Amino acid sequence: MTTSASVPTGPDSAIVRRGTVTDRLVDANERYADAFTDPGMDARPVLHVAVVACMDARLDLHAALGLELGDCHTIRNAGGVVTDDVIRSLTISQRKLGTRSIVLIHHTGCGLESITEDFRNELELEVGQRPAWAVEAFRDVDQDVRQSMQRVRTSPFLLHTDEVRGFVFDVKTGLLREIDPA
Ligand SMILES: [Zn+2]
Repeated sequence: MTTSASVPTGPDSAIVRRGTVTDRLVDANERYADAFTDPGMDARPVLHVAVVACMDARLDLHAALGLELGDCHTIRNAGGVVTDDVIRSLTISQRKLGTRSIVLIHHTGCGLESITEDFRNELELEVGQRPAWAVEAFRDVDQDVRQSMQRVRTSPFLLHTDEVRGFVFDVKTGLLREIDPA
């Protein structure tokens, strides 16, 4: 990424003047807290659902799914991959916090389609240590959603695997497309 030495103008100029991006977030939080009232909820999601999704910045889960504060658990990582740590969160979600349904959301144009498992080798060459984790790169998003559904359904730790559905979110149209698990 290149940087410009010119004086910033436009919508970003206020951010630059105020400091870092994190400063901007902290400022926004103060305004949020000013208008915030305690909803009096406990930690159990109102809709008894957990959503596992990619961390992609174009996917606003609450807006895209009509979710309100307190409705669901959201578990996100690069790719929306069902890793051991996602199984950990889902297990706690179901066994301790009462969720029953699981929604898996991948999306078009995912960054994991443009890299390969070679990324681990590149890291090893650069830093001298090979990561223990898999990159979980993929070429076929539909197949990757099916694999994720399969990983959830075959987990011995989950109580409820009868209501697991998988989707691809189109970042151009905002629409979900359901993936047939078969
Ligand atoms: Zn993604």
